[in-house]
This record gives sequence, C-alpha cells and structure tokens, in this order.
Amino acid sequence: MIRSITKQKPLDEVLKSLGEMERVFIIGCGTCTTMAHTGGQAEVLAMQQKLVESRKVVTGFMVIPVACDNLTEEALQQNLPAMSESQALVIMSCAFGVQTVSRFLEIPVIPALDTLFIGKEMGPGLFQEVCLQCGECILGETGGICPVTSCHKGLVNGPCGGTQEGKCEVDRNKDCAWTLIYERLQKQGRLAAMRKFHPAKNYQVEPKPGKTIFELERS
Ligand code: SF4
Ligand code: SF4
Repeated sequence: MIRSITKQKPLDEVLKSLGEMERVFIIGCGTCTTMAHTGGQAEVLAMQQKLVESRKVVTGFMVIPVACDNLTEEALQQNLPAMSESQALVIMSCAFGVQTVSRFLEIPVIPALDTLFIGKEMGPGLFQEVCLQCGECILGETGGICPVTSCHKGLVNGPCGGTQEGKCEVDRNKDCAWTLIYERLQKQGRLAAMRKFHPAKNYQVEPKPGKTIFELERS
C-alpha cells in the first residue's frame, strides 16, 4: 500500500537548493516512492546520472527499505563513510523520510521530491503529524525540520516575535520550531538559509481531495 504520494521536483530546483554543495549522496526509499516510480532504485540511478551531468560528485547512493521507519538509523550506518564525505544528501523519499534521515545525521538534506499527500494509516497507537503535504517542500532550507507542522502558526518564514528563550509563545512548554531550525542550520554552517524568503502558502484555493495520476509508462 502506498502511503505517501510524491512527485519529482524539477532538476533545476534541486540544483538550486544544492547551490555550491558539490559532493552529494543520494537516498531513495524502497516503499512508497519505489511504487510511485519517483524515488526507487531506477529513479536514484537516473538522478545520479543527472547530477553527474550537472558537474556534481556523487559519493554514493542507497535505497533504504522504508525511509520513514525508525530502522532507517541502522540502514544509514552502512553508508556512513561515504555520507560523511558528502556536503549534502539528496533524498528521494517522502517528506516524512527526509525528516527521519535528518534526525539521525548532521548533514544537510535536500528533498528531490514534493510530497503531495499521505494516505490514512489505520492501526493501534498514536500518530503525530509530520507533514501537511503542502506540495512545496522547503526542508532543504530549514535543516530538515518542517515549520508548517512544527511551528504553532505554521510560519514558513520565522521566527515570529513571540519566541522566548527557545520556547514558543503559543505554548511555553514547546520548543520554538524556528529556534530549532536556526540551531540546526547553525550546526551545519548554513545560517544564510534563514534569510531566504518563502512566499506564504494559500491553502484556501487548494482543490480537495488531492488527486494525482501516475505515469506508469516510462521510456
Ligand atoms: S515543507 Fe513541511 S509540510 Fe511542506 S512538504 Fe515539506 S515537510 Fe511537508
Ligand atoms: S514562537 Fe516559534 S514555534 Fe511559536 S509561533 Fe512563533 S515561530 Fe512558531
């Protein structure tokens, strides 16, 4: 069953996010993006070729069985040497997978896909929202932390004026998402990304329910 519905970002957008970063490691996902033909082995290999043609150095690639799973930490260990030689990880999973990888590694993550929407997961337990499937993933500029779901106001430019000592003005028991983003980018030496302006999202004109058509015929 596919849970995360994704589409590939235009290559130009991926290259723009990479900027000066030359050495990259590519990560795909063996579950949803393999089934959707957006980030499985074939698409990872195609991305490798495109990045090499764009004068990037691809240090390696892997397809994690389930990128959003906690076992991802273990899977990443197998390629740690190549990853630590890389300036960025180009990730071809849904945004949940991008966030999972970024939790385990202090290497900048660049999403190569936009997550359109996530199917309902039925089962026991508690689920926490990690991605609103906004269709314009900016995790590449926010250190892999999603402000749309982590900031109480869903601000795509932050922090607001209310953050105090790292806590959110709406809930003082909660860490301010934009302070976390600042700290993550600072650790990665990428604070300049905080200055990038992101246009506000207009949710009122989003057609619901979301729909997409897979192009299963491939040349
Ligand atoms: S910015 Fe946040 S809500 Fe939008 S696709 Fe990325 S993770 Fe999901
Ligand atoms: S304090 Fe931080 S998390 Fe809270 S609303 Fe403002 S920017 Fe968002």
